[in-house]
Amino acid sequence: MKLYDVTTAIFEGMSVYKNKEEKQPKLNTVTNGHVTETRVELDLHTGTHVDSPLHMINDGDTMETIKIEDLVGKVKLFDLTHVEDRIKKEDIASFDIGKDDFVLFKTKNSLEDEFNFEFIFVAKDAAAYLAEKGIKGVGVDGLGIERAQEGHPTHRTLFKANVIVMEGLRLADVPEGEYFMVAAPLKIQGTDAAPARVLLFDGLSV
Ligand SMILES: [Zn+2]
Repeated sequence: MKLYDVTTAIFEGMSVYKNKEEKQPKLNTVTNGHVTETRVELDLHTGTHVDSPLHMINDGDTMETIKIEDLVGKVKLFDLTHVEDRIKKEDIASFDIGKDDFVLFKTKNSLEDEFNFEFIFVAKDAAAYLAEKGIKGVGVDGLGIERAQEGHPTHRTLFKANVIVMEGLRLADVPEGEYFMVAAPLKIQGTDAAPARVLLFDGLSV
């Protein structure tokens, strides 16, 4: 059995959305005698994380409505590293994607460590296709599942179809295939997102 940790490391100076200084995590470490404790200031969309519908829908559901059972199980990882600019419906239409699948898209984003303002994202026609298929969730390797789309149709289409959105995966070392995923967002209540540790297991059957 092989384990892939596809989680972004969190540290001061890490890659954050649009390189915005206010999105940098802040670690404040205090040592008193032999006791060291750290407080962290963290945007919940930092690094690898799960979004909840509240992120893009006023009064939308919050993190605790996402069942952990839906974040643990079989996933299908597709290699889209050849795709430029955005993942369109035509890029994924030939894939074996069906109802209740959890899919992960590996793109050129996984091969870059710096924030790229032109990061690969899921276009609205691909989001509509995934929603129509009735998938359970989609994970991407950009810090956002969309950019430059007025009104955020990709997020909103997926959320309205109860599709779980996971962002900020690091998939460079993971070949296309099927895996057993354990994605565990912090159990923060009432929020629009939560950072998650995400592990993929090859050859694990439960
Ligand atoms: Zn997010």
